[in-house]
Amino acid sequence: MPEKLINVIKYKNPRCITSIEQEIVHEYRLVDKEAKIYRCVYCGAEYAVK
Ligand SMILES: [Zn+2]
Repeated sequence: MPEKLINVIKYKNPRCITSIEQEIVHEYRLVDKEAKIYRCVYCGAEYAVK
């Protein structure tokens, strides 16, 4: 699994800066390899890869 996901995950979180700044790169980092969970570097939202 990649350590980072760049602009791969599409989601709408009104608290996330990426929802406001359209030009910003939405970056997720792998935080839990076992559970396959990524976390947004800006808002901390977690995303579980299925
Ligand atoms: Zn975010």
